[in-house]
Amino acid sequence: MSKFQSLRGMNDCLPTDTPVWQYLESTVSRLFARYGYREIRVPLVESTDLFKRSIGEVTDIVEKEMYTFKDLSDESITLRPEGTACVVRACQQHGLLHNQTQKVWYHGPMFRYEKPQKGRQRQFHQMGVEIFGFQGPDIDAEIIMMTARLWKELGLSDVVTLQLNSLGTLEARNAYKAKLVEFLNGIRDQLDEDSQRRIDSNPLRVLDSKDKKTQALLADAPDLLDHLDEESAEHFAQLRALLDAAGIHYQVNSRLVRGLDYYGKTVFEWVTEALGAQGAVCAGGRYDGLVQQLGGRATPGVGFAMGEERLVLLLQELNLVPDSVNQQVDVFIAYELECLQGAMLLAENLREQLGDLRIQTHFGGGSFKSQMKKADKSGAAVALLIGETEQANSSVTVKWLREDKPQQTVATSELLKLLQSL
Ligand code: ATP
Ligand code: MG
Repeated sequence: MSKFQSLRGMNDCLPTDTPVWQYLESTVSRLFARYGYREIRVPLVESTDLFKRSIGEVTDIVEKEMYTFKDLSDESITLRPEGTACVVRACQQHGLLHNQTQKVWYHGPMFRYEKPQKGRQRQFHQMGVEIFGFQGPDIDAEIIMMTARLWKELGLSDVVTLQLNSLGTLEARNAYKAKLVEFLNGIRDQLDEDSQRRIDSNPLRVLDSKDKKTQALLADAPDLLDHLDEESAEHFAQLRALLDAAGIHYQVNSRLVRGLDYYGKTVFEWVTEALGAQGAVCAGGRYDGLVQQLGGRATPGVGFAMGEERLVLLLQELNLVPDSVNQQVDVFIAYELECLQGAMLLAENLREQLGDLRIQTHFGGGSFKSQMKKADKSGAAVALLIGETEQANSSVTVKWLREDKPQQTVATSELLKLLQSL
């Protein structure tokens, strides 16, 4: 074994797995384009303060999951644990929020120092969207419809369910918080340690506790949805009506608060039971206060991020990856060794004429028989054989590897027509 190993929770993606990742990423990026989003690319590293101010000091991410370092100028920098703060920073910095709306998407690695397990890595990958300048529930509904369409197109509709909540405005939330704190103080001694601490620092997060006993005790807690302000209640009602009209099922979960402080009004999560404990595959919500919180003019925002590792696992475990995704070669070229030059020129000629065809030329010597074994293993639909006879006659022998069709020898000029149908 090599002396060097990848770091815990930071995985390589090997060529056997990249096809499914590419399938997911291309499906998602095409979907985003169909809804009018443009891609934005932001750095992997930002100033530590950006994440502290946006995500919130008293959150799992900021308290214990960030990769934070001092660089050589003694500046505190952090590997991004999520994308929203970075995108807000970038849009703000480049004036993209000034008197205009934006719909952008991003993808790439995120970093959180967590306990690695199935569906949970320290370097993981998200694809997400952020929308700025739209206040209404219509866009909240559209991003949920867009994700629902994605599940449909990936074949995942039956294994994911939508959880939906509204956190209300900051004022309404603060009024609710006071009542919640009163309730929590009454049962303080029975709560898990983290929750006890959070009563004072971030009481809403107690609702999200993973501790079973705490969850049971919360059954009698005041309900967030009973404390919504009028505007948020109206926003939520309209969102629900739009989702109902679109036939999208959801479960209202008044304890869904999400792990980041910047959310208000709509929050949602798509969850699955097919992956064990790591159930959330896509999560998001509205963050109307964030731009201002980071120093900009008040600008409404809403977005979501989905975890690519978990989606790839779902696709693989449920056998939802189309066969064509793993087939990486269409044509394999085999030849008698003295015909190498002709074989290489034929391959180039085909690449010139038939742009998208994936052509692999054999290299490294060996008998026809061993070349044919490789051709079969490559997954190619056809093998093209060039022996001395073929070379002398400007022809090629076509052997169908996946279909029960007789081998045929055709003129090179005929070959194009034959391969066009692949
Ligand atoms: P969880 O409750 O599973 O920790 P989260 O609420 O921390 O998730 P978000 O910050 O909302 O996650 O990120 C959005 C999505 O990114 C999650 O729904 C999940 O699919 C994915 N995700 C988050 N953390 C990880 C991780 N460490 N490894 C793999 N995927 C992750
Ligand atoms: Mg988490």
